[in-house]
Amino acid sequence: MTPAYIGIGSNLADPRAQVERALDELGEIARSRLAARSALYASAPLGYEAQPEFVNAVARLDTELEAFELLSELQAIESRHGRRRSFANAPRTLDLDLLLFGEQRIAAPQLVVPHPRMHERAFVLLPLLELAPDAHIPGRGSAAACAAALPGQKVERLG
Ligand code: AMP
Repeated sequence: MTPAYIGIGSNLADPRAQVERALDELGEIARSRLAARSALYASAPLGYEAQPEFVNAVARLDTELEAFELLSELQAIESRHGRRRSFANAPRTLDLDLLLFGEQRIAAPQLVVPHPRMHERAFVLLPLLELAPDAHIPGRGSAAACAAALPGQKVERLG
């Protein structure tokens, strides 16, 4: 079993419901078990700012799948949520990112792990630290140290 951490984000079509439904669907992936989930967090959009706030969460999945098989499962869930790929940082009904896959480092055209921008995103690091305070990002160091080094990003834990 490999512990995999997955970042979940949505800012369209009832984002809280999208994220909750995505968590249920992660729990239905074959040869995998949803081991933990964070609270929901609200975050201001980065990059393209003229769009609604995001709702984010992180899940831990313990899986017997290979990383590429898991990525296909994540993409299948995204398409079921009506995800359309338009432009970088565009609004999205559901975004699933494979953040960490055990201690593996992967650099393939379709999959880069650890996720290349996770260490600079408070909306990823805060929910990740809630689940795994000792999380280590291969090549980057401790997730807690990465979070401490970030300039103020507006992220709010939702009740
Ligand atoms: P985005 O539109 O930002 O969700 O990017 C999706 C694209 O990123 C897909 O084509 C994936 O193959 C690729 N990708 C590369 N690394 C990852 C990762 N760690 N998690 C999810 N998608 C990834």
